[in-house]
Amino acid sequence: MRFCSLGSGSSGNALVVESRCGTTTSRVLVDCGFSQRELQTRLARAGLAVDDLDAVFVTHEHGDHVGCAVTLSRRHGIPLWTSRGTWRALGEPALPEGRLRFARDGEPITVGNLQLHPFTVPHDALEPLQLSCTDGQWRLGVLTDVGSSTAHLLAQIQRCDALVLECNHDRTLLAQSRYPASLKARIDGPHGHLANDSAAQILAQCHHAGLRHVVAAHLSEQNNSPALAAEALAAACGARPADITVADPAKGAGWLTLK
Ligand SMILES: [Zn+2]
Ligand SMILES: [Zn+2]
Repeated sequence: MRFCSLGSGSSGNALVVESRCGTTTSRVLVDCGFSQRELQTRLARAGLAVDDLDAVFVTHEHGDHVGCAVTLSRRHGIPLWTSRGTWRALGEPALPEGRLRFARDGEPITVGNLQLHPFTVPHDALEPLQLSCTDGQWRLGVLTDVGSSTAHLLAQIQRCDALVLECNHDRTLLAQSRYPASLKARIDGPHGHLANDSAAQILAQCHHAGLRHVVAAHLSEQNNSPALAAEALAAACGARPADITVADPAKGAGWLTLK
């Protein structure tokens, strides 16, 4: 199993999860927060094309996660998984029969060799879901757009072999920024985004010897830096900052393999 961030941040998020088993390869795109042209460029950089995708999973309705998901599903016949709440928030656009599949907290989804396990998180969207993905041997946890930790989300990301974890902002940089007070309160609130120290706490609570890859994601370009995020996560799991991968808004993070 391997995965590749195609880019992460408020300008757009997309992540490919791939599992090869015998002659079958299954690929899920988790979030699709780019225009179709941009997505194609980024997929090509990862050695893929749109028709290589078996499903798209949209975590919530914010534009940096939805992007061209509906058009992609409509034009390329790719099943689109999302929560009912997210779909309602998007205005329930028309899709051909059977193309739309509803995801719910606690209900596993099978896409070829991959199983997705969606779970509820606190974020300012109608029914946001994050997820873990497994091929039966390896497990990747994906946790971005989360305002605060909960016992439920912590339980969902235990024993992951890889974790993509939001490190949105450094609290001091956010407090000092020129953002309006209302926006600062939203970002730093319980339904906003994870600060580096909150992400570090979550990592400390799910870290174990088998956790091979930690990817810091959804960094604010104004109120964070790759070095600050990497330092915070490294300290939480006894690693060196260089051991933490930081997903770039433009370049993503390249393929990371679990083997
Ligand atoms: Zn986002
Ligand atoms: Zn969001």
